[in-house]
Amino acid sequence: MVDIIVVGGGAAGMIASIVAARQGAEVLLLERLNRVGKKLLVTGNGRCNLTNIEIEKRWYHTSGKADFSYPLNDLDATRTRIFFEELGIVPLIEGKKVYPLSEQASSVLDVLRMEMKHQGVKEQTDTHVIRLKQKEEVWELTAEDGATYKAPKVIWATGGLAGGLSFGCSEEGYMLLKPVGHSVIKPFPTLVHLVSNAPYCKMLKGTKIKAKAAIWIADKERRKEYGEVLFTEDGLSGPPIFQLSRLAGEASLKKQSCEVKLDLFPEEPLEDLVSKIYERIARHPERSIEELFIGFLHKRLVLALMKYAEITSIHRSCEGLEYEEIMRLVEGMKAFCFKIQGTRSFKHAQATAGGISIDEIDLETMASKKAKGLYLAGEVLDIDGDCGGFNLQWAWSSGYLAGLSASRKNEE
Ligand SMILES: Cc1cc2nc3c(=O)[nH]c(=O)nc-3n(C[C@H](O)[C@H](O)[C@H](O)COP(=O)(O)OP(=O)(O)OC[C@H]3O[C@@H](n4cnc5c(N)ncnc54)[C@H](O)[C@@H]3O)c2cc1C
Repeated sequence: MVDIIVVGGGAAGMIASIVAARQGAEVLLLERLNRVGKKLLVTGNGRCNLTNIEIEKRWYHTSGKADFSYPLNDLDATRTRIFFEELGIVPLIEGKKVYPLSEQASSVLDVLRMEMKHQGVKEQTDTHVIRLKQKEEVWELTAEDGATYKAPKVIWATGGLAGGLSFGCSEEGYMLLKPVGHSVIKPFPTLVHLVSNAPYCKMLKGTKIKAKAAIWIADKERRKEYGEVLFTEDGLSGPPIFQLSRLAGEASLKKQSCEVKLDLFPEEPLEDLVSKIYERIARHPERSIEELFIGFLHKRLVLALMKYAEITSIHRSCEGLEYEEIMRLVEGMKAFCFKIQGTRSFKHAQATAGGISIDEIDLETMASKKAKGLYLAGEVLDIDGDCGGFNLQWAWSSGYLAGLSASRKNEE
């Protein structure tokens, strides 16, 4: 029997085990994969965007009612940076995103593992927990091979579903908590590509353009994001699209209509674009419609927009462009509309929306309100952040607090 068992060796589980061990607890960390921190290694495209200098509640989403600001204020972005600086990570700040100066996610994992070892955390990999039960205030966890582990306190940090099985993700992390009394808010992928069957996606496959992307759900505009949009065979991707994907996932669950409209010239009013096109025609009347836009629009975009504006022959003289055709074209430039069928699967996602209800957690300790001696942390909970270091910050903040609370001798 140890003092605390941490289930899950991801960001949340590792920080929880360090903090608990620093408080003098004997900690055993159980991880189903053959090593801890596998997902951490791929974060931030291998650079690990470990936090953001502007951690605020408004960048997080949940269907819970509880106020989740306590953990984020307790270990805030500054204290997170200090925590990692003390372990040897020099921060590199890009915009508001924080990375390790080495630009290697492996550095973050290395320092966490070194500190776990230094603090005497027992790390046991290839240990897949398949059952937990509590008897006389002692938790008994059973692994797939039949081995059992006992402790009065358990920190549950089994993560979400984003990234798929190779990162140890499965529904089990939620299901095992159901008999304990917890409820699961239906998980869906977020920070993920959007799927659209618009023919323009295939035409533009591989093209990147800067645009303001607006998501419309049930005919209402819900959010706008500016940045580089990438067209893929089956839809839209890129940073602004990732930020909109939670709303698209939610709409898909609720079977609501969803569209993304791209404004390719967010700084220019529609009338100015119309004037610009007439100026180009006046300057080069000898050019074809296709040639007219060279140097103004990406070549592949010209073809897609012509199709969108139902301009059939692009080889005819630009002088022959009708006013209605120019208007349809400019409307396409200002609101190139893509019907969205949903999102790609969890395998392609960076985070999970939904999970264990935060209303069932004491968010000042991360203790379960359903079972004594059980603490929850990280993505397993129904809370997810935007792209930009917010999800790891939640894992650090909630894991830190869970480790601290679980190691307090008199914690209720
Ligand atoms: C490709 C990608 C890039 C990302 N980039 C960023 C980024 O740059 N910045 C950012 O803030 N966020 C990023 N994220 C999100 C971030 O990685 C996660 O939110 C964070 O890692 C969640 O930490 P966690 O500890 O809760 O879960 P995880 O890291 O998923 O860890 C959970 C662990 O529990 C183990 N486990 C599960 N079930 C069991 C069981 N029954 N028994 C034993 N062990 C079990 C799993 O194997 C896993 O190791 C990214 C995610 C992905 C997929």
